[in-house]
Amino acid sequence: MTKSLAAVFREIGAPVSIERITLDPPETTEVLVRIAAVGLCRTDYHVMRGERRVAMRPMVLGHEAAGVVEQIGSAVSGIKPGDHVILTFIPACGKCHWCGKGLHHLCAEGARITQGPQLDGSYRRRDHEGHAVGAFCMIGAFAERAVVDQASVVVIDKDIPFDLASLVACGVPAGVGAARQRARVQPGDSVLVVGCGGDGMNVVQGARLCGAVQIIAADIVPAKLDWAREFGATHGVNAQGEALTRAVLELTGGIGVNHAFVCIDPPSTLLPAFRATAKGGNVVVTALTPDTVTEINIPPLELFVTQKAIMGAVYGFSSPRLQIPELLGLYRNGALKLRELITRRYRLDEINQGYADLEAGRNLRGVVLFDD
Ligand SMILES: [Zn+2]
Ligand SMILES: [Zn+2]
Repeated sequence: MTKSLAAVFREIGAPVSIERITLDPPETTEVLVRIAAVGLCRTDYHVMRGERRVAMRPMVLGHEAAGVVEQIGSAVSGIKPGDHVILTFIPACGKCHWCGKGLHHLCAEGARITQGPQLDGSYRRRDHEGHAVGAFCMIGAFAERAVVDQASVVVIDKDIPFDLASLVACGVPAGVGAARQRARVQPGDSVLVVGCGGDGMNVVQGARLCGAVQIIAADIVPAKLDWAREFGATHGVNAQGEALTRAVLELTGGIGVNHAFVCIDPPSTLLPAFRATAKGGNVVVTALTPDTVTEINIPPLELFVTQKAIMGAVYGFSSPRLQIPELLGLYRNGALKLRELITRRYRLDEINQGYADLEAGRNLRGVVLFDD
């Protein structure tokens, strides 16, 4: 049994509560991980605000993490104490139809990551009153330690700093993969990225890696447009709605972009992005929509005659097991920026400030760091 300081989600719309929870030892297929760094992703914030429902409270949020394995269960293979790891927010159960095809980002168990229990359906965390505490994404990484199934673990090389590694758990593969694996951006293509936060900025650098020649960043926070240029954007547009569509059409000679990426608030950005896309082009949605919004209107005739494709991308539409080592390799070779993504570092007890900074548009990415 281990004690672990954790940021616990108890009440919708309230700050997460910093508490010492009890962590049971890992079961046969599980590992105990000392979390070294965890990114402040917008998804956790959607949960805190009640925009995305989770099945239980209390729950430890946090799903963009890297750390060190401290203990392993008797049936764990390929992972040993001392290994540096990235935790994946969708497990790779290895048994379902999708995992059988190597498509771990589509794993059938992914449907359960907002439920709270471990992959095996039981709990490892308890609060001071003995109540079961859930783990968001089967990880619960806003904590000093986490017990997770080996299905959620990817071992990485030890030369990668933890703060940079943590970003490769979510935002980096989500964005870079959306450009490379989902839209399959080609050299010479034009791209629009709506919303230049954690995902969007990585779509920008993914598009750059693919050889896109025109990368239009759109955001209503001017600083993010400046940052986007550092990641490879060729143009910045501070507009939304019809004004956004008009600006993009103007920049593309009235044709539209080959690929548009909707990286924030699909209810308000999908249609303007769709209309800024060239005939036959792709519109990729990488962002969550609040539970209260159940449909978005795209005129069906417009979809038909313009022959565009609208597609979703979670985890960059690629197995994190394949993508994480590849992305770390690109970082090592200087092709992928990671350090530049981090705006500010926090202690765990500053996490609510971190989310206030995210909300205010001050952060590209905030990261919580833990002492050894
Ligand atoms: Zn995330
Ligand atoms: Zn699976």
